[in-house]
Amino acid sequence: MKLVYTNQNLAQVGLIQSYLAEHDIASEMRNQHASSVMGEVAFFSVWPECWVADEDATPAKILIDDLNNTPTTTEEWICGTCQETSPANFAVCWSCQTPYTLVKT
Ligand SMILES: [Zn+2]
Repeated sequence: MKLVYTNQNLAQVGLIQSYLAEHDIASEMRNQHASSVMGEVAFFSVWPECWVADEDATPAKILIDDLNNTPTTTEEWICGTCQETSPANFAVCWSCQTPYTLVKT
């Protein structure tokens, strides 16, 4: 297994997982319960992590790079898939999880 993504925000790691799943890459989340023990690990942060099989690490990283390669826009954007409006700082549609990079015009 290889670590391909980690973020302080559990929901963001979850989004990465579903994004990878859509591309047929199975992933495993670790440390997802870290926040419940935060008080005991105050001197270093334990962020939720997304792990994939060794052979999936390279394609997974490419997908995640694409996903992160996003919004420097300061305006809301409209999802081309479901037509919902997402805030500028969202890299994926809040409603259907379509990445901004795939739906922006
Ligand atoms: Zn959408």
